[in-house]
Amino acid sequence: MDVTNVRPEVRDVPAYRFEARPALVKLDQNENPDDLPATLREAALARVAAAAWHRYPALHPDGLAARLATRHDWPADGVVVAGGSNVLIQALVVLSGLGRRTVALSPSFPLYAQQARLLGSALQEVPLGPEHAFPVAAVIEAVGSGSGVAFLPAPLAPTGNAVDPRDLQRVAEAAGPGWTIVIDEAYAEFAGSDHTALARSFPRVVLLRTLSKAFGLAGARLGYAVAHPELAVELRKVVLPFSVSALQLAVGEAVLDAPEWIDERVRATVAERERLSAGLRERGVRHVPSVTNFLLLSVVDAAATHLGLLRHGVLVRRQDHLPGLAGALRVTVGRPDENDAFLRAWDALTRVNGEPHA
Ligand code: PMP
Repeated sequence: MDVTNVRPEVRDVPAYRFEARPALVKLDQNENPDDLPATLREAALARVAAAAWHRYPALHPDGLAARLATRHDWPADGVVVAGGSNVLIQALVVLSGLGRRTVALSPSFPLYAQQARLLGSALQEVPLGPEHAFPVAAVIEAVGSGSGVAFLPAPLAPTGNAVDPRDLQRVAEAAGPGWTIVIDEAYAEFAGSDHTALARSFPRVVLLRTLSKAFGLAGARLGYAVAHPELAVELRKVVLPFSVSALQLAVGEAVLDAPEWIDERVRATVAERERLSAGLRERGVRHVPSVTNFLLLSVVDAAATHLGLLRHGVLVRRQDHLPGLAGALRVTVGRPDENDAFLRAWDALTRVNGEPHA
């Protein structure tokens, strides 16, 4: 069928790339390697059982928003909850980017650019600096005039390195009044970073958080924005009403009842990240210093190494299609046994092929 009935902006955009593959050791999506403990799952199921399935849920999940707000010492009406931070990325392009500009770092999370293209916002991609550094001067220049939305992941993704908070402060100071500056903190828990203070000082700075990583709820689909309450009123108009189901809410509330579990998972992941990084260093494998739950490696032949690892039952993610990331593979920090399996598979490949990973 010729799809001339579809807007060219949509036809021209490639679909979001993700190929699900079965693997014994799944280190490809930066998920939490452990599911919720049985007691928490039961608590969530009890909440699901008690929910009224035939009734609409809250128009906006204010109860969950209030609980998330206390984690940031933020007014409850300044938190906007949605079915994943993906949803909020789209909403933020609609809020401030449509008919204006969208600034995205390159490489970074591909969804920013994809949503800008789909929605017909003029996309301006700003390349990372040397060693994948946050390109502060170029971002300042981009947001110094005109209007739109800028997506700045901190920590950076998919490279995993930290952003100096002073650089974000400089961007916030330089941004013109027509700009919404979004700091995507998807991996902030693993970095111990928090830009709430910046958002408090600069009301056009919005923080984006997800429950998919440190909170271990990628399957439940929940994310939230922390914004000035007046900006949150506008953002809520854009997010579709009733879009967070009673089932999602039940799971989100159950995990918020157990913040010690989240903290423990973050501690364990950070310790494993450092062990995995040391293991790669011993093997002479170049990788970006990471403050997240993943490591970006550089190999000679990303396709061959990806396939070789998969043959040993270990699935990692290719990133070598992204600009400036030739030879890049991304490995999620898993459980200790999974990380050991990854290193064993790596050694087995290296033995067979000599030293393909330098
Ligand atoms: N931002 C970044 C930087 C991400 O890496 C991801 C997911 N990989 C998201 C946002 C989207 O997360 P969610 O599951 O909340 O939609």
